Amino acid sequence: MNVHPLPPSALKGEGMTSQRARDRLATKLKEEGIRDQRVIDVIRNTPRHHFIDQALHSRAYENTALPIGHGQTISQPWVVARMTEALLEFGVPQKVLEIGTGSGYQAVVLAQLVPQVYTVERIEELLRQARRRFRQLGLSNIRSRHDDGKLGWADEAPFDAIILTAAGDAIPHAVLDQLSPTGVLVAPVGSPSNQMLIRMRGDGQGDFIQEELAAVSFVPLLGGIG
Ligand code: SAH
Repeated sequence: MNVHPLPPSALKGEGMTSQRARDRLATKLKEEGIRDQRVIDVIRNTPRHHFIDQALHSRAYENTALPIGHGQTISQPWVVARMTEALLEFGVPQKVLEIGTGSGYQAVVLAQLVPQVYTVERIEELLRQARRRFRQLGLSNIRSRHDDGKLGWADEAPFDAIILTAAGDAIPHAVLDQLSPTGVLVAPVGSPSNQMLIRMRGDGQGDFIQEELAAVSFVPLLGGIG
């Protein structure tokens, strides 16, 4: 189920940016334990090379994080896939909040699977580039905001799902407060050398069921705007 497919023209590419390169990445994600076919299909059909500098295009479909400037990175495809499938496991969330737009790749993956994505980024220049990509890909179900994501996006709360793509010592209170009572949150938590991807699920009574999903390595969740 791909609710918002990208236009076929978005997928043009040759050699290292071709459909074959994306197919190989999709196969690798399956081999490495990604089970949700919807997520694999979306990654197979998302031009990751549009989200990075031309000089790195030949590495776009490697299963690795890559620099996007300003000391930030586009996440490893396996991590994007794992976080996305963890968010969708209990049903398709209607409204998803992402903290840390970065290149916009994770937001674009989500926007093909859920009705509405809200994404917050603290570095204005990265957000500007991500917005251009959203427009070029014809996605109109992503709203974005230049702000400190530790504050969430109060005017649009509650969210059925929240994803943080930068790691702090804990989930900011304001963000957790904006999760619906039965919502799902996926985030890296911990220091750069000792980080866990966790999932929290609201039980509807104000408590959360928390699970550890995988060891990961994300850039830090910073305060204020850049
Ligand atoms: N989801 C991104 C990953 C980007 S890396 C992608 O698919 O490319 C994490 C991003 O989180 C960086 O762009 C960084 O600037 C941003 N970030 C860190 N702390 C933040 C905060 N408090 N509020 C909003 N964005 C933040």
